[in-house]
Formats: sequence, structure tokens, C-alpha cells
Amino acid sequence: MDIKLIVKKVKENSPQADTELLELAFDFAKKAHQGQKRKNDEEYIQHSLHTAFLLAQIKADINTVIAGILHDVPEDTEFTLDDIEKNFGKDVASLVEGITKLSKIKYRGVERYRESLKKMFLAMARDIRVVLIKFCDRLHNLRTLDALPEAKRQRIAKETMEIYAPIAGLLGIWRLKWQMEDLCFKFTNPEEYQKLEYKYEVEKKTERNQYINRVKNILGLELKKADVPYTIEGRFKHLYSIYRKMKTKGKQFDEIQDVFALRVITDSVENCYQILGIIHAIWKPKPNRIKDYIALPKPNGYRSLHTTVFGVDGHATEFQIRTTEMDEEAHYGIAAHFHYKQKSGSENSLKQPQWIKEILSLQRANENTEDFIKQIKFDVFRDRIFVFSPKGDVFELPKGSTPIDFAYAVHSDVGNKAAGAIINDQISTLDHELQNGDAVEIIIEKNRKSPNRDWLKFVKTARAREKIKQNQPKSNFSSITKFLPRV
Ligand code: MN
Repeated sequence: MDIKLIVKKVKENSPQADTELLELAFDFAKKAHQGQKRKNDEEYIQHSLHTAFLLAQIKADINTVIAGILHDVPEDTEFTLDDIEKNFGKDVASLVEGITKLSKIKYRGVERYRESLKKMFLAMARDIRVVLIKFCDRLHNLRTLDALPEAKRQRIAKETMEIYAPIAGLLGIWRLKWQMEDLCFKFTNPEEYQKLEYKYEVEKKTERNQYINRVKNILGLELKKADVPYTIEGRFKHLYSIYRKMKTKGKQFDEIQDVFALRVITDSVENCYQILGIIHAIWKPKPNRIKDYIALPKPNGYRSLHTTVFGVDGHATEFQIRTTEMDEEAHYGIAAHFHYKQKSGSENSLKQPQWIKEILSLQRANENTEDFIKQIKFDVFRDRIFVFSPKGDVFELPKGSTPIDFAYAVHSDVGNKAAGAIINDQISTLDHELQNGDAVEIIIEKNRKSPNRDWLKFVKTARAREKIKQNQPKSNFSSITKFLPRV
């Protein structure tokens, strides 16, 4: 890896970026790691450069790329964080400091595992860029895992599968998640990996390529006629996800891979819909398989149009249609999100997803690490839904949430005084499970003093649970609640 490639990549992402500091960081790190070698006998600086390049690939900002080059300096060399701050400023130094703290994470049994997860989440809440650096550092370590002793390889692979990959998915950085998973799969289950790789790369290859080319030709012709710009991709190798589907669904490789998938990328939202129309004019769509994630994005921000059609020879074919920007967001998740926000000139408008803010409040509410992790898994790792307030404000909640969870997400007063709910213009009970896209209105009882303790039986979010407990009447006259309307 050459520093010039990294400079080029950064310039590609943001042409106005001042890359001089980047080259200085390279000189500095090279000097600091002088004479150090990796286990595979490579110069140590190569690891720093690969980490930085991966960061540039996911469109991280220039300070993050610089911190990527410097990330192992305080830990492994005679230079300190102060040296870094003096030369590269506070922002870079604080990123490197974050990484140095995180590097103490090691998978050693369940207790340590929880501690690691907690550290990772907290680092994320403080500055998500630290975790991006950690991911790229890890990905390069996985690529060079061959050089390590077997026991250490297994430990790192396991830790990656349990901590790093799920968090990368949470942040929508699928590209990193999939690469990490496939690399780990190869180490933890070499036989299965090789079997699947053979099926994918050898047995199925010709059939897949021929089919995809036929579809490309037919569709390409129509898109040209309509004068719509496009590129079509037809290869998404992700062996671990195939393997997992085979396991959980008890199916064979051929059954999982029976739907051909293609991705059509274009320049504007209007053209996405036009392409959808063109595809449906050529092939009959399967009922109930048209998904408009552009009008209603997935809770993690994913946008695309999906449809499955009876394609050439009636063969089920799935299309994902999206713009270049959506495509990059789908690969790079939160990182690309920052990138586009910065591009539009509003550098300080970096909006963290709601759940990142929740992590900090969860930490305050849960002294005990085990509870903290349990709650995080529940609130964060679960699927999320979007619901709307009567004014059209969007609220993000874990799946399975009820109107009471919604009420407390709006405001504690709304929760404390909730008496009923209207969901999509229908009167509903307070324990009703909300669905993605529901419009929810809470009916308030102004004179109500405290929330109903029984709500604890069905609320899902930590925030609602905490507020209900907090706002219980302090006196012994708990019978008061009995006169209040029940759910
Ligand atoms: Mn490293």
C-alpha cells in the first residue's frame, strides 16, 4: 500500500481536502514504527496504511483517515498522544486516544465480552469515527490472520463475529460487515467455507452469468430507449449469509440461491421509479414483493426500490433499484451519511441516529454491565420501526413497542398522562403493538398524577420503564391508581 493511493482516494471523496497533513502523518508514523515488523514479516507501517485506505474507501473524513495512519503510534512506539496533538491537532489526537482505549478490548470469556461490548457502545456514542477506525483496523488484521497461531486466530475470529460484525450491521456499514463475516467464516469453519465457495464460484458460476447477461441485455435495451442512465450489477458474493440461511431455514444451497438478484443504479429518484415501471412492463411482478424503501426507508436508513419478477423463462429475479448516493449509503452506512452531509455544506449537522443518544442514557440508568448489555441488545439490536406523530414528526422505536413507549419517546408528560391511543384513526388499547409507518396520537388525561404501574407489563423501551417507575406516587396510597382508567 502506498500513501499516494490514500491521498488519491481522499481527494476523490472531497476534492477540497487538504492532504498535506495526511502525508505528514505518513512520515510521522513511518518514523515512529521504524524497524517494527508485523507477524507476517511486513513493515508495520503497511498495517497503518491499509487501515487508512479502508477508511478512505468508506468515505471517512480526512481527520479520521489521518488518525487511521497514526492509530497504533501511542500504543506501540515511543511517541505519545501529546506528540500527536502537537503535530496534528486536538481532533486527530482525540480519535487516536479513543482507539488506544478501545484496543484493550479482548475476548476472554463472557464477563469480558460484556465489558467489551459496553466499551464499544460507549466509544460509539462519544465519537462514532473511533469505531470506524477500529473496524478498519480489525478488517486488515483479519486479512493477515494467517500469520498468527491457531488459538489466537480463533479468538479474534470469534470476537469479530460476536462484537464487531453485529455493530457494523447496526451502523449500516454492510461492506465491512460482510467482509469481516466471510473472513471469519473461513477461519472458524474452513470446510463449509470451501464447499460453498466451490458451489458459488465453480458450479453455479456459468448458469448465473449467462442468466444475468440475458436479463441485462433485455433490460438495457429498454433503458436505452427510455434514455435513462444506468449500471447493472449482478454479483453479490456473501458466503456467510448463504451459510446462515441454509442453517436457520434448513435449506440447500440451490434453494437459497434460486432467486437471481440484480441491482440497477441510476442518477435520480425519478429515474428509480421509471426503471421500476420499465421492469414491470417487461416481466410480471410477483404480488406483495414490491417494496418502496425510498418513500419509507428502513429504520437503519436503507433506501431502495425492491421488486421480484417472473423473469426470463419465468425464473424468479429480484431487482434492487437505487441512486448512486443510496448505493453508497447502503454499503458504507453511517460513514457515507456523514460524507453526504458534509458535502451539502452543513458540517455541524451530523445527526446521530436516535439510538446512539439512547446508549448514553441507558448507561446512566444501568450501573450493572449485564443489565446494560441486555437493554442495549433489546433497544438497539432489535429491528426498529418508524412511527409518526399527528404533526408528522418521525419517531424511531424498537420493534414490538406500544403506544406507551411512543408516548414516553415524545415527552415524559405525554407518557405520564396517557389515557388512550389513536392509531391510524382507530381507537386502540395502550398495549397494542405498533407497526412500521403507524400514525399514533396519544389521548391525554390532564389531571392524571402518575402513570399506571401495570404498563410495566408490556412496555418495551428502557426509557418508558424507567419513567413509569420514577413517577410512581411516593406515598403508600397506591390504591389511588385503582381509580384511574385501566388499559
Ligand atoms: Mn492496528
